[in-house]
Amino acid sequence: MSEDTLFAKIIHGELPADIVFQDELVTAFRDINPVAPTHVLIVPNAAIPTVDDVQPEHELALGRLFSAARQIARDEGIAESGYRLIINCRDHGGQEVFHLHMHLLGGKPLGRMHNPPPPTALV
Ligand code: 5GP
Repeated sequence: MSEDTLFAKIIHGELPADIVFQDELVTAFRDINPVAPTHVLIVPNAAIPTVDDVQPEHELALGRLFSAARQIARDEGIAESGYRLIINCRDHGGQEVFHLHMHLLGGKPLGRMHNPPPPTALV
């Protein structure tokens, strides 16, 4: 597993970030390019590249992602209005940074997530 990702550097304090939560298992910081009034990335401190690399020993940290999301949503004042949690995996999932992370998005109505592709032309 690579320890060289941007997010590993943020976790270890080698790159600046607006950290909103950190404990022994996860770190959460504001996305540099937010797409919603609240856009926080919650990452396991262990360098797990993608969801496809998850192992049973990661389960505690991955559960903590959700506990942290709940707490951060409360701290941000969006728990009642609601929010969206997203984890992208690899190319078709749109993953850009290969250190598993959960997006916490909220602070405005986000609409429906599923955007169906255009119908395939009949041949
Ligand atoms: P992905 O597409 O991999 O699920 O999401 C990666 C996210 O990381 C993007 O939303 C992007 O804006 C964010 N990001 C990329 N580089 C940095 C950085 O250096 N600092 C912070 N805080 N966010 C970053």
